[in-house]
Amino acid sequence: MTTALQKAPRLTLNDAELLAVDLYGLDVSATSLPSERDQNFALRNASGEQFVLKIANAEERLEFLDLQNQLIQFLAAHDLDLEFPRIIQTKVEQSIGTVKSEDGHQHFVRLLTWIEGVCFAKVERHDRKLLTSLGRALAQMDAALTQFSHTAAHRSFYWDLRNARLARESIGLLPESRRAMIERFFRESEKIDWSGLRFSIIHNDANDYNILVSQRPEKRVNAILDYGDVVHTATVSELAIALAYVMLDKPDPIGAAAQVVAAYHETYPLTETEVEVLYTLAVTRLGCSVCFAARQTHDAPDNEYLNISNAPAWRLLEKLSNISFGWPTRIFRYACGLPVVKRKDSRQERTSVELLAARERHLGPSLSMSYQSPLHIVCGSRQYLYDARGGRYLDCVNNVAHVGHSHPRVVRAGSEQMAILNTNTRYLHEHLIEYTERLTATLPEPLSVVYLVNSGSEANELALRMARAHTRGNAVIVVESAYHGNTSAMIDLSPYKFGGPGGKGCPSWVHKVPMPDVYRGAHHGPEAARLYADYVIEAARKIADAGQSLAAFFCESALSCGGQISLPRGYLNDAYTAVRKAGGVCVADEVQTGFGRAGEHFWMFETQDVVPDIVTLGKPIGNGHPLGAVITTPAIAASFANGMEYFNTFGGNPVSCAVGLAVLDVIRDEELQQNALEVGDYLKQQLCELQNRHPLIGDVRGLGLFIGIEFVRNRETLEPADREAAQIVERMKERCVLLSNHGPYHNVIKIKPPMVFSKADGNHLISGLDRVLEENFSNL
Ligand code: PMP
Repeated sequence: MTTALQKAPRLTLNDAELLAVDLYGLDVSATSLPSERDQNFALRNASGEQFVLKIANAEERLEFLDLQNQLIQFLAAHDLDLEFPRIIQTKVEQSIGTVKSEDGHQHFVRLLTWIEGVCFAKVERHDRKLLTSLGRALAQMDAALTQFSHTAAHRSFYWDLRNARLARESIGLLPESRRAMIERFFRESEKIDWSGLRFSIIHNDANDYNILVSQRPEKRVNAILDYGDVVHTATVSELAIALAYVMLDKPDPIGAAAQVVAAYHETYPLTETEVEVLYTLAVTRLGCSVCFAARQTHDAPDNEYLNISNAPAWRLLEKLSNISFGWPTRIFRYACGLPVVKRKDSRQERTSVELLAARERHLGPSLSMSYQSPLHIVCGSRQYLYDARGGRYLDCVNNVAHVGHSHPRVVRAGSEQMAILNTNTRYLHEHLIEYTERLTATLPEPLSVVYLVNSGSEANELALRMARAHTRGNAVIVVESAYHGNTSAMIDLSPYKFGGPGGKGCPSWVHKVPMPDVYRGAHHGPEAARLYADYVIEAARKIADAGQSLAAFFCESALSCGGQISLPRGYLNDAYTAVRKAGGVCVADEVQTGFGRAGEHFWMFETQDVVPDIVTLGKPIGNGHPLGAVITTPAIAASFANGMEYFNTFGGNPVSCAVGLAVLDVIRDEELQQNALEVGDYLKQQLCELQNRHPLIGDVRGLGLFIGIEFVRNRETLEPADREAAQIVERMKERCVLLSNHGPYHNVIKIKPPMVFSKADGNHLISGLDRVLEENFSNL
């Protein structure tokens, strides 16, 4: 290594310019570019064209430069999202020329075209899109390179992570206080069983100065430069090396790395064994980097390039040494949709048949199960659920696992807090206050007072009490087919329940209005919102006529049990005006729809341009942890404080608040609302295309990742295709895609997946639906 540095070329700028004329007939001015072992120059001619002149180390073999040229040409011929330089021939049509330096060494010379872009290291904000484009670019390159071979790549190279022991030899040159930390990382790398990994030729140096970013039309990685470290080694080293540099100077290095891992995995799937070693390899690269830098500065104190990432690398190593070593691997497993922890051996557990029999004995028969043959789900990760046999299902329906099943940040927040304190809200606690501040910051004024509860039902139950306390009224207007919860009062308030099997009919204090359904309902077109809101006016009048007094109008911001119905724009505005005029308050049930699912807005009611008086939250709020909330105005809170204390044993406890805070953090950091918008729009567009080919699809509707597909036997009569919808759900389950059907006629398939759902998942869902419709209903 040291001799290689000693044999680095030492041309002046003038030498480089003369060489360009001699070898290539180019009249240019030169500036120098950094390099570890070689010498690189940027050349520019009078018309502004730019090139990179590469003078190889005297030790470099011709065969290795040929490898680099062939690799560039190979990748350029593939349709990747990356640009590759062109190799310029010398005047005598050679792709590699030579030059002799003053000290008599011969150096090989190459000239490449220049690629425009900014170094990843110099780009200010590494947002989700940029990190995703990096993961995708690396994956595309690695996938293509599995088809590339060249004998020169099979070499022993000190930057190959398999040779980390060479770097470790220099550990004594590090400051004493830091050696133990680096030792610990190296010890982990020694445990790697390389024989279990895939091998291929890789770039092997996607560091932050070799990754180029183009700014237009959008910020994305457009090139990965410098092929001087190419080697045949474990494929996963490619990604690990990039991660080492992606993590530099990030407030949340593991979170940023996870975004790259997720995009890589989606493009070119990693094996579970690769995911297991990824973090170890990334920190090993950092360890190698600081050790080699220490060795090289010791040997060549004036080579600036050697220290280029040194200070940030140390800052990162310090930061990483303070987190438990297994934690990043859990996050990376999660990013790849693998169960966060490896499952324990299931041989001791009961079979599905045994569980079903026991369930029938001990769980009430009023609880149904999904699917004809029930699923035995044992773990979840991101948008996937795994059954006891290890089968993986794409979950398109569980909106409770909002930020993804078993999200490690949420799990960690809850379990860490559980180990510290879990008690009620009669004590001051930072989490409680921070959580109420963070929640109310997402809502418009005057919605500023929070009550934390344990479920959506409880939230709506409390909202009803508040509405009655504030208005002194009793009657409630609800929408046909709505479901607001499982308590006595909520069953009374839910047409879906009181009007269904076992229901006792509509109580006298409850007044139903038709669903504002512009597909199947009575009104369509631009006037529909107003005409549907007229039913609310009429209900308010009937309430008054009956000598009752209106307490509230309960309405989901998009109708879920009603069949994934988006409210026509303007509906809530007109309905709220009528309700307030009649003295009632407006309750927005956001239990199904909140927390960014709408895409355009954080709350679904915002798509209607209204401010409710009370908002109720549940399901996604705790990502599966039992949590709910009621948020209201100071005026309603004051009316509710009539002397009777409101106390809730579990609501708002520190564990729930820690979980709720983590959910909000993940939605923000992983830009999940934006994802809901982009993926939701894409999915709807794809579903509409499917609708063109399959007459059974009557309607596709929804906002963000809250979508419904309504199936009909006849597009004129709208005869509901309920059996068909049920059959599609079953067939899709056989294809490992989980959906459910709902709506008053059971003919609507709901799509409301965890918000990490990707376009690739969407494609998988669409192609499955296409096949199922083709195979089962093509003769319609
Ligand atoms: N409101 C709506 C709109 C719901 O969909 C539900 C549950 N499906 C509830 C309230 C009740 O929530 P929970 O099951 O958490 O009590």
